[in-house]
Amino acid sequence: MAYWWIRSVGRTDFDASHRWRMPGIICPRCRRTWARTGPALPSVSFEGDPLGEQLNRWPVALARWKELAKAVRPYVPESEPIVPGLTFGPLEGELYRSFRLGWHGSGGLVLSASLQRAFAKLAPGLSLVPADLGVPEKYLEVEVRSGAIATSMRVASPCSECGFREQRLKDDRLVIGDVRADLPPIFRLRNYPAAVLVQEVLLPLFRRELGDEAELVEVRIWKRKQARRNGRRRK
Ligand SMILES: [Zn+2]
Repeated sequence: MAYWWIRSVGRTDFDASHRWRMPGIICPRCRRTWARTGPALPSVSFEGDPLGEQLNRWPVALARWKELAKAVRPYVPESEPIVPGLTFGPLEGELYRSFRLGWHGSGGLVLSASLQRAFAKLAPGLSLVPADLGVPEKYLEVEVRSGAIATSMRVASPCSECGFREQRLKDDRLVIGDVRADLPPIFRLRNYPAAVLVQEVLLPLFRRELGDEAELVEVRIWKRKQARRNGRRRK
């Protein structure tokens, strides 16, 4: 099966944010303050839960962050890594102009109810969470969960304490590994959550609805090299 990387080059149709967020990390070892952008679990709610009051945008010291991650774990699906910047709860915000399929930031996907049926047919089993954009029309956010990993990554200055690593794609090309048969039709990469990937069956819909607001790049699937299996190595 082929997968495509859907890269946002689009305009913004609305301004919205998720209500809760894993704070950024302040690391005592590498002295960085950092968070990731992209990963969101809109179906996870902390409504009426005091834990939710601690999930905001202010970064915290690493030890405190680890405590929070532990407290949040039971609320989060097992498949999902908890990272600084991971957001929760439905989108709330303001609509600028109506749309059918649009980007939230560079890695969130929101669709209008008019597209819901066609979308659900092509991508069954995905959770669509109602977004409140301050208008009577209904919009839904696609909950994009984690699937494979990126293997074409150049990593620099990793920190053993907080897990930070500087990441860059080799030659701007995306190769993925750990591709399981049960990958959802739309998913993020565990180690590169900004990237959203879709199965080929969704490509016509994305092409039609996003037009030039997205760049569609076919990803390669990493395979173990023949030479290594035979025990030969090139010098
Ligand atoms: Zn660190």
